Amino acid sequence: MKRGSQRVTTAARVHARFTQADVRAAVAGLRGSVSFQAPLREYTSFKIGGPADVVVEPADIEEVCLVVQQARARKIPLFVLGGTNLLIRDGGIRGIVVSLVRLRAIKEESGAVLYAEGGVGMPTLIGYAIRHSLAGLEWAAGIPGTVAGCVVMNAGTKLGEMKDSIKAVRMVNMKGQVVDVEAAQVKFEYRRALLPRGIVVGVWVELKQGVRSEIERVVKDYLHYRRETQPLAMPSAGCVFKNPPNDSAGRLIEASGLKGRRVGDAEVSMKHANFMVNRGQARAADVMALIGKVRSAIRRQAGVRLELELKIVGEP
Ligand SMILES: Cc1cc2nc3c(=O)[nH]c(=O)nc-3n(C[C@H](O)[C@H](O)[C@H](O)COP(=O)(O)OP(=O)(O)OC[C@H]3O[C@@H](n4cnc5c(N)ncnc54)[C@H](O)[C@@H]3O)c2cc1C
Repeated sequence: MKRGSQRVTTAARVHARFTQADVRAAVAGLRGSVSFQAPLREYTSFKIGGPADVVVEPADIEEVCLVVQQARARKIPLFVLGGTNLLIRDGGIRGIVVSLVRLRAIKEESGAVLYAEGGVGMPTLIGYAIRHSLAGLEWAAGIPGTVAGCVVMNAGTKLGEMKDSIKAVRMVNMKGQVVDVEAAQVKFEYRRALLPRGIVVGVWVELKQGVRSEIERVVKDYLHYRRETQPLAMPSAGCVFKNPPNDSAGRLIEASGLKGRRVGDAEVSMKHANFMVNRGQARAADVMALIGKVRSAIRRQAGVRLELELKIVGEP
């Protein structure tokens, strides 16, 4: 990270140059909720993570702008989360963590375009699309993240990817201004969108009129497939590794006999080898040690270097 610069961190370790009084001043005057020393395990699907200096839930987009401006004025780093593709380290996150849970409006626009605020959960958006007989998001059935997180990650399944559904994105830039970005201006890669820096606060998705029963059938079938093949009853962050070209990380890990391997309460899932699950009290350090073991085994046995899909953030 550049000295003195303020940014939305993704995986950077942050060296604090600000005081707790600065943090309090930066989140002053918000109508949304503000929680100091908040345990981040409560914000993640993995149920792992140390404390944040503060977690804010802005009440609306104007408050997101305000937080960005007030943080910028004090050079306090911001981190935005939905919480389902993250391993937050045991030392937590310094600075301000932003959760968009209060930004959850969905509007139908002209044609078959829906506008969803960034904190809308993908399952909620799919439910809305089904009720309005709008097809095109079935590929995302069972992805638990926010629509904003799905844009940033270019979330996907074997049925499709977020980039196929996006028309445009509304962002709050690092100056705290609202800007709209057309999807055509964004480069999407495997589990990555090259967006301008800032916070995604809304997404337009382009769908098409369909037949409700048919949309519902595809979604139900995919949810059934997930229940059969993924450890959905246990805390996890989905797939840990990206699939290497022309292969599957899960296949490689299973073939290496690593299913069930544990460090502390972190375990390579018995049900899906590319998932790691928290059996109760796993720490981030346990998951990281397990990731290290899996990576070196696959490197040694298959000659493949597995890349992380999971984002590891925060302080050790
Ligand atoms: C059971 C399970 C199944 C899953 N299945 C899939 C799957 O099939 N396909 C798939 O792709 N993923 C899957 N995931 C992973 C995850 O749901 C997706 O990656 C999702 O897109 C993450 O969204 P999120 O809101 O939780 O973002 P997070 O995980 O919190 O964040 C991911 C990254 O996006 C950034 N970010 C989040 N919100 C914003 C924002 N508003 N503005 C700017 N940056 C932001 C974060 O800082 C971080 O860098 C699964 C996870 C679980 C637990």
